[in-house]
Amino acid sequence: MPSENKGIVIKSTGSWYQVKPDNSDTVACKLKGKFRIKGIKTTNPIAVGDRVEFQMQDDGTGVINKIVPRKNYIIRKSTKLSKQAHIMAANIDEAILVATLAMPRTSTGFIDRFLVSAEAYHIPAKIIFNKNDIYSEEEKNQLEQLSSMYDKVGYPTLVTSAKTAENLDQIKALLDGKLSVISGHSGVGKSALLNVLVPGLNLRIGDISEVHLKGKHTTTFAELHQIWDNTYVVDTPGIKEFGLVDIEKDELRLYFPEMMRTSVNCKFYNCTHVHEPGCAVRVAVEAGEIASSRYENYLNMLKGDEMNLNQWELK
Ligand code: GDP
Ligand code: ZN
Repeated sequence: MPSENKGIVIKSTGSWYQVKPDNSDTVACKLKGKFRIKGIKTTNPIAVGDRVEFQMQDDGTGVINKIVPRKNYIIRKSTKLSKQAHIMAANIDEAILVATLAMPRTSTGFIDRFLVSAEAYHIPAKIIFNKNDIYSEEEKNQLEQLSSMYDKVGYPTLVTSAKTAENLDQIKALLDGKLSVISGHSGVGKSALLNVLVPGLNLRIGDISEVHLKGKHTTTFAELHQIWDNTYVVDTPGIKEFGLVDIEKDELRLYFPEMMRTSVNCKFYNCTHVHEPGCAVRVAVEAGEIASSRYENYLNMLKGDEMNLNQWELK
């Protein structure tokens, strides 16, 4: 009897999957027969991050016969109109946004859209504010307010500098033992941070021009990059476009955790917090208990004609 093995899919190329067991080298695997996953129409049955079981063959390759149910996944539509989706990665432990207050400035609008995407995908989100070495006193004050605001909502934040190595040990602790997706505007220092943490690492983050990116959408495959034991980052040009989920307007309010918590006190159970009488969220905004930037970004997102976060790809 061939032996049963478990591993995580770290790369897929057509019909071959590279599967990494915990304590041994990567095995090239194929799928057993026809494999369909119920529920979603996808162009790929297995994605990086999938936990699979496989049997070793005499020729040293493996046959995947089981996929462990996914705890989450991020998708990308194959084309704008297509109903089919491509699963970019599965079983993501955390989505990390790298943001900067200057050079370039990351807006709270962008941060909040990222956080909404993460909520919709059921992925815990965290924010790293990088380039702390270049900020003025005023920017440092803003940063302090921003990070304590997001901490309070429930999103852990870190303030770092790839240049002076400030708090890099905390980023290390953040990543350790997890599968992470790292996103953020071009130029915020994603590659710089990872390169200091993992010397010699050569991720594709940041070195593919975005013009090129847009054209090549459907042909790019994600990979998991193992940086330490049991520690992976999703490596894909698409990493910059984390916001890729369709959200209905009337579910948007579910993805602002502080509003959700407060809304139990709204008069109407399905209060949108826009115009309804007896809205506890608006009272909390007035009282400064809910950040007005968060509330305004919520209203702006509601106002958008198109709730498809595809619109919010990084420029
Ligand atoms: P990416 O596009 O997010 O991967 O950004 P890069 O890592 O390529 O960084 C963009 C530019 O910012 C490079 O010139 C880096 O040297 C610089 N940079 C990155 N992190 C820091 C930082 O913490 N402080 C300063 N001063 N510069 C940084
Ligand atoms: Zn309300």
